[in-house]
Amino acid sequence: MTYVVTENCIKCKYMDCVEVCPVDCFYEGENMLVIHPDECIDCGVCEPECPAEAIKPDTEPGLESWLKLNADYAKSWPNLTQKKSPPADAKDWDGKSGKFEEHFSANPGAGD
Ligand code: SF4
Ligand code: SF4
Repeated sequence: MTYVVTENCIKCKYMDCVEVCPVDCFYEGENMLVIHPDECIDCGVCEPECPAEAIKPDTEPGLESWLKLNADYAKSWPNLTQKKSPPADAKDWDGKSGKFEEHFSANPGAGD
């Protein structure tokens, strides 16, 4: 099992999660983060820290495509271990639907 970052992270990207992860397994895309499923130790401490409630255990049903996306992009996006400033309009995007279809970016973030 692992935890996965899901749709509501897109364009919210608060990054509170990276501060608490004991194994530094978050990777940064242009407008969201992912968790490396092979590095995550399933401690669960990041889940309640996410203001956007975007982190879920992969034991929840229906997260198969998100698990694949986390696994795929964790291989190519840079590692992120320290919180940076979230996007200025992060609050405006919290809870919006259709973010994956309209706003997912495969581009990497800057990382640490
Ligand atoms: S805290 Fe939540 S919204 Fe912020 S980067 Fe982490 S997963 Fe994304
Ligand atoms: S569950 Fe633990 S190890 Fe996995 S990403 Fe969250 S904080 Fe890191």
